[in-house]
Amino acid sequence: GFRMGIVGLPNVGKSTLFNALTRTASAQAENFPFCTIEPNVGEVAVPDPRLYALADIAKSKQIIPTRMTFVDIAGLVKGASKGEGLGNQFLANIREVDAIAHVLRCFEDGDVVHVDGRVDPVSDAETIETELIISDMESLEKRLQNIVRKVRGGDKEAIQQERLMKMALEALNEGKPARVVEVAEDDLKAWRMLQLLTSKPVLYVCNVAEDEAATGNAHSEAVAKMAAEQGNAHVVISARIEEEISQLDAEEAEMFLSEMGLDEAGLDRLIKAGYNLLKLETYFTVGPKEARAWTIPVGTSAPKAAGVIHGDFEKGFIRAETIAYDDFVGLGGEQAAKDAGKMRAEGKGYVVKDGDVMHFLFNN
Ligand code: GDP
Repeated sequence: GFRMGIVGLPNVGKSTLFNALTRTASAQAENFPFCTIEPNVGEVAVPDPRLYALADIAKSKQIIPTRMTFVDIAGLVKGASKGEGLGNQFLANIREVDAIAHVLRCFEDGDVVHVDGRVDPVSDAETIETELIISDMESLEKRLQNIVRKVRGGDKEAIQQERLMKMALEALNEGKPARVVEVAEDDLKAWRMLQLLTSKPVLYVCNVAEDEAATGNAHSEAVAKMAAEQGNAHVVISARIEEEISQLDAEEAEMFLSEMGLDEAGLDRLIKAGYNLLKLETYFTVGPKEARAWTIPVGTSAPKAAGVIHGDFEKGFIRAETIAYDDFVGLGGEQAAKDAGKMRAEGKGYVVKDGDVMHFLFNN
């Protein structure tokens, strides 16, 4: 599955957020085999009202949302790249996630110590980014040395790697993250293999005080401006509120939200933003037994999408019967869509679209 790492300086609200995320996920989806894999790793259901609409029409017995994994990566402090705090162990954890949710303290509270003695989320963001930049630089310098011999020997792969490493270093040396480097289509695979911390997409999570959850504040506005300049995403949420909501049942939660002037739980927005950040989309399989959502990267072909369900589906792929979500719901179900000529037979070259209801035919 896809993994988001929650990072941030100490005392910004990471654990509060992580606990709220995992608790809400387990409470909301009763049929959903939620698990906390490790104390700091949790799977959450991706909120998607379309799944419930489909299940309603098909009278599906079970509803199974698609999932995303969150990892609470504690231990980042100034100097981590030099081994301070959990240092390198922490950085290794970041290497393994697909994207970063960077929690920034945007709440004032004299009782909660700020590591630098003042609330300044933009500066905090820079502190962390600097650590990641230094870490990437050091790992690249090492790796460049390791491939020198292969490059001299004319190894094509090594030559490509060296070229990409140097492109990354050029940006990093200017204090910029590797994500600003424009990489040609042909180089993308090798680029990803470099697993640079600063090439991962970032979502800033502005943790504001309870009474500012609906409006944001000057701190979160400063973060929004920074995020826009960098081309990164941001969401405003109050971890404290989310923690409270996570202890309520669905009905109570809705009342609480409307009292706070919020139309959607912050966690739902966070999960959705993460999904968008990773350029993921959803297709559905729908029947009387179950309605289920599946995650694929945007641009996935039908056989690859089938492979998410089972490897055999991809290997033996014959064709897909496909109904667009709007047709399925608008016409009132599979048979009606079929009668209206809205069920399409699609071959190997079909690129699955967000919301497609899919039925795969395959050889065993
Ligand atoms: P972490 O070190 O980043 O994981 O931070 P924690 O989640 O442990 O939070 C640190 C402290 O800040 C805890 O005492 C939280 O209750 C408190 N905290 C977290 N979010 C908020 C918030 O939105 N407002 C206030 N006033 N305190 C918060």
